[in-house]
Amino acid sequence: MATPKAAIETMDVGSSPIERYRDVLGAEAWSEFSGAFSLLAERLRGRVVWNVNSTPRGGGVAELLASLIPYSRGAGIDERWVVIEGSREFFDFTKKAHTLLHGVAPDGSDVTREERRVYEETMQRNTGPLLEMIRPGDVAVLHDPQTAGLVAALAAHGCQVIWRSHIGVDQPNEMVRNAWRWLRPYLVDAAAYVFSRRAYVWDELESAKVHVIAPCIDPFTTKNEDLDDASVNAILRASRILPGPDGEATFLRQGGAAGRVRRAAILSTTVPADARLVLQVSRWDRLKDPAGVMQGFAEHVAPRSDAWLVLAGPSVHAVDDDPEQPEILAHLEAIRSALDPPIRQRIVIAQLPMEDIDENAAIVNALQRRAYVVVQKSLAEGFGLTVAEAMWKAKPVVASRVGGIEDQIEDGRSGILIADPRDLRSFGDAVLGVLADEAKARSLGQGARLRVLRQFLAPRYLKEQTELVSSLVA
Ligand code: UDP
Repeated sequence: MATPKAAIETMDVGSSPIERYRDVLGAEAWSEFSGAFSLLAERLRGRVVWNVNSTPRGGGVAELLASLIPYSRGAGIDERWVVIEGSREFFDFTKKAHTLLHGVAPDGSDVTREERRVYEETMQRNTGPLLEMIRPGDVAVLHDPQTAGLVAALAAHGCQVIWRSHIGVDQPNEMVRNAWRWLRPYLVDAAAYVFSRRAYVWDELESAKVHVIAPCIDPFTTKNEDLDDASVNAILRASRILPGPDGEATFLRQGGAAGRVRRAAILSTTVPADARLVLQVSRWDRLKDPAGVMQGFAEHVAPRSDAWLVLAGPSVHAVDDDPEQPEILAHLEAIRSALDPPIRQRIVIAQLPMEDIDENAAIVNALQRRAYVVVQKSLAEGFGLTVAEAMWKAKPVVASRVGGIEDQIEDGRSGILIADPRDLRSFGDAVLGVLADEAKARSLGQGARLRVLRQFLAPRYLKEQTELVSSLVA
C-alpha cells in the first residue's frame, strides 16, 4: 500500500534588511560582518536553503527561524521554512523523546516498538512531498529530533543535510544515553551537526562534522525593540500590571504594522507605580523554579528591602500542550497565600495574555525594561533566551550557573551567577546586593548589554550558519 502524503506547511517568511544592524554593531564590526555575509550570500546563489521543523509557532526554534530567515532573504539568500505534519501520537512521542534527551522519564525510559513505528511512518509520509519541493544540490537544515528521520532520504536525494539540535544536557544519565541510541542511527548521513553549546555535543557523533553555534536574539523584534519610558508605562497600565490610565500603549508588530495592548494580565495584585521590581519571566515549569524564586524573595529579599517580585508567564488557559502548567501555577498561588500579608502583597503572579502573540511579546518587553533586577533561577536551562533579552535591555541579571546561562553571563561583570541554584540565601543576597548598590546595578547592566552586543545578536549567528552552509556546498 502506498504511504499517504503529509501536508507540508510553507511558512510565509518576509525579508528584512540586515542594514538595520549597521548602527547597532558600529562601523568596524558592521563592515567586517556585512562584507563576509554578502560574499557568502553570493556563493549560495542558485541554491535554496530549506529549514524543516515541526511547529510553526511557540517555542524558541520558531522564534529563532521567524526572526532570522528574513535577514538571509534580505541579503539575497533563498532561504525558506517548511513545517512537517504529524499526528497526535507523533507529537506525544516526540515530547517524550525530548524529555528523555533531557534525562527525565515521563512514562518509562524506553522508546517502544510502536513509538518507533509512528515516528518512522510520519517521516515517510513527509518525505514524498518534501522531495517534490527540495532539489538535489539544495541545503536542508533539519531542526531537532522531530525531523532527524528525514536525514537519510534528503541526503540520498543529493542535498547537503545539516541536523540542528537545540537541546542538550550538561550531565547525560542512562536515560539520555538510551534516547541517543534511538536517535543516532537516523543522523548518520548528515553532512554536519550543529549544537548550541560544546557541552551538548553528543560524543558518539563523527566529530569532524560537529559545529557549535550559540543562539541569539534580534533587537528588532517586538520582544526586544526599544521602548521609551512612556510606552513601557502605557503598556503595563493597559495590561493592568501598573495602575493608571492606559495612554499610548502601542508597539510594532513583527510584520511592521502598529499594534496596541488591549488585554489585561491575570494578576494576584497590581504593582504600585513607583515599585522597584525583581522579575522572572518563564513558562510555568518546575525547571524554572518559580516556587524557589518566591521563597528566596520572601525569606531573604523582602524583609531587607522595599522591592516587589513579579513572576510572569503565559496565561495557562492558553497553553494546552503542557498540562503541567496549571498545576505549577496553583502550587505557586498556594505558597503565596500562606505568606505573611506584608510580604505576600509585594509578590505578584502575572499571567500574560496569549491570544495575540505580538501583544504578549510587547508586555514581556515592557516588563523587562521596567524591572530593576531580572532573575532566572532555573534548575536547568538549554540556552535561556530570557537572560539574553534582559541583558540586552541593560538589566542586572541574577541567574543560576546552569546550561547556556553560564555561556552568557560572566560572573560579576555582565551579571551574577549563583553556583547552586537551590541555595536560596545566596540567591537572595545577590539580589539584595544589586538592589542596595545603584552603581553596581548600572555597571552590571552595561556589561550585560555589551556582552550581548558582542556575542549574542543575529549577525554573529547568521555569519556562522552561512559560513557552514557555504563550506558544505563549496
Ligand atoms: N516568553 C514569552 N511570554 C511568556 C513567557 C515566556 O514570550 O509569558 C518567552 C521569553 O521571553 C523567551 C521564551 O519565551 O523568549 C523562552 O525561552 P527560554 O530560552 O528562556 O526558555 P524555554 O521556554 O525555551 O525553556
